[in-house]
Amino acid sequence: MEKFRKEKKFNKRDRDHDKGERGSFGKFEGVYNIGGRIATKNSTPGFRVYDEKVVNRDNSEFRIWDPFRSKLGAAIVKGLKSFPISHKSRVLYLGASSGTTSSHVADIAESVYCVEFSKRMMRELLPVTLRKRNMIPILGGAKHPEEYVHNIGNVDVIFQDVAQKNQAEILIKNAEIFSPRYAILSIKSRSISAEKTPKQVFREEIDKLREKFEVLEIIDLQPYEKDHVLVNLKVK
Ligand code: SAM
Repeated sequence: MEKFRKEKKFNKRDRDHDKGERGSFGKFEGVYNIGGRIATKNSTPGFRVYDEKVVNRDNSEFRIWDPFRSKLGAAIVKGLKSFPISHKSRVLYLGASSGTTSSHVADIAESVYCVEFSKRMMRELLPVTLRKRNMIPILGGAKHPEEYVHNIGNVDVIFQDVAQKNQAEILIKNAEIFSPRYAILSIKSRSISAEKTPKQVFREEIDKLREKFEVLEIIDLQPYEKDHVLVNLKVK
């Protein structure tokens, strides 16, 4: 796994940040650096979501955030420069699956509205949301935000990872309704086109976003995910 700084520096930073409010991934609130690996402080100590490793320090339990299992984790490891999620954030998470990434987001944020359209995945997500009470499960399709808007209201950030053909349109539609200030979009090129090159797919998809969003960063997720980018966006 990639390492960011030398271990010695990490340990000092960990100690400093374990004492304070902020996580220690340099600048990101709630994202810690535990021996060179990213982690979140477990909001439900003793409860794990995907068999992740845990580390105990100074009376807190930290869940190691696996970049091979989470695109947001991979983007942080790959040097994401700005992270819009804070302790005060209300997050709309589209494509929550069984809760791997959304549970880390829930360790950081105030609330995470977890939209998932697969009943099978929802069955796995529900026990997680029963323990992490700031995760609110919503069985629904991200293409139809009008069907879940009444459960949510406005949010600060939309995170989307749905591996669908029209990923940009889905994000724009949700952003129109939920008025976030920021959005993070994971784009999987093969879900959009197998004929075009990933580069071409990413360019076309990101161009569709430019009217509504300022593109802050585009992170290629290799070697953690092939043919994926994570796009960090600010609403104009
Ligand atoms: N973000 C998850 C994580 O890191 O833990 C993994 C998400 S997985 C790649 C994509 C998920 O999106 C699947 O669980 C799939 O069922 C769901 N999905 C796909 N299309 C969707 C849609 N239109 N509405 C809601 N969920 C959708």
